[in-house]
Amino acid sequence: MSYDPENIFAKILRGEIPCEKIFEDDETLAFMDIMPRSKGHCLVIPKTRCRNMLDATPKQLSACITTVQRVAQAAKTAMGAQGITIQQFNEAAGGQEVLHLHYHIHPRHEGVPMGPAGQMGDFGEIKAHAEKIRAALES
Ligand code: 5GP
Repeated sequence: MSYDPENIFAKILRGEIPCEKIFEDDETLAFMDIMPRSKGHCLVIPKTRCRNMLDATPKQLSACITTVQRVAQAAKTAMGAQGITIQQFNEAAGGQEVLHLHYHIHPRHEGVPMGPAGQMGDFGEIKAHAEKIRAALES
């Protein structure tokens, strides 16, 4: 399976479409999901090309999971959550829609189920959540 450089996250990495960024380092980028299934739902991706965990290099995987932990800790604090769910899908049959490796970070509250996929979020709310997560990352 080859990497499609026209996938939506590749376009975000090239700056061709905007994203609500919350963190970046040399290897990874974290930004808000535009169709959040939880309050504070965000994504971590590598800056280099791979479809998913099945073709990623150890370097890409370790960079991503390090950023996932850092952003998850900040998102939990920022959103006043009691827990975090991490989701990661591989290939269409595995539930993956965007074919650039990504990890979903969901802040979770006791008794609150995750929402449905595919529903556009409120941009004002997403921006407000991003500001809280960025503040937690900086503190
Ligand atoms: P997947 O099912 O591939 O694991 O999830 C892809 C995720 O990307 C979905 O949660 C979807 O809401 C999110 N997404 C799709 N298009 C965009 C976009 O243009 N910007 C952002 N920030 N997220 C997107």
